[in-house]
Amino acid sequence: VEHLVIMDETAVRRALTRIAHEILEKNKGIENCVLVGIRTRGVFLARRIAERISEIEGTTISIGELDVTSYRDDLLNEHGESNKKPSESKFQEPPQVFPIHNKKIILFDDVLYTGRTIRAAMDAIMDKGRPQSIQLAVLADRGHRELPIRADYVGKNVPTSRVEEISVSLQEYDGLDQVSILQH
Ligand code: 5GP
Ligand code: MG
Repeated sequence: VEHLVIMDETAVRRALTRIAHEILEKNKGIENCVLVGIRTRGVFLARRIAERISEIEGTTISIGELDVTSYRDDLLNEHGESNKKPSESKFQEPPQVFPIHNKKIILFDDVLYTGRTIRAAMDAIMDKGRPQSIQLAVLADRGHRELPIRADYVGKNVPTSRVEEISVSLQEYDGLDQVSILQH
């Protein structure tokens, strides 16, 4: 397995700082926004961006988390039965409740690929309320979309082939910040 580092700790930090500023610019501040991380690694991205924004703006930021494993429609087998992968989550608690009605929801995930996870996340949110808007931030966009979904904030665009995989490590969960491409 070939392993090509495309973002080191510094690159990850700079990308997240840039995204924090882009979020503030696009939303003219952070009022009425809720930062929602998709488990597992999206949660840590949302928390880091919330920390940076609260340092810049001097306010507290609403955050939430979402586990959309059960909503994924690409994990069904050919008989339409659920084929759920064992959860990579180390979290035991049920998903947090966060405000949705009339809020600007900003979703966070580590990698954007087909778009199915984000579609599922949007379904989960809109089942519970009517947000004013939903935006999306990802650390890496590896292409190969199967749905009309795009990210508003992108750490790095990483054109990949379908056999390549992106490996994302985050300090809080993996002990270091690094994004690399794995070639099998
Ligand atoms: P999608 O639903 O867009 O096909 O895939 C995105 C979801 O699957 C994200 O939650 C992401 O964590 C995971 N994912 C898809 N492709 C990759 C990849 O190449 N590397 C990593 N680390 N996660 C991926
Ligand atoms: Mg994921």
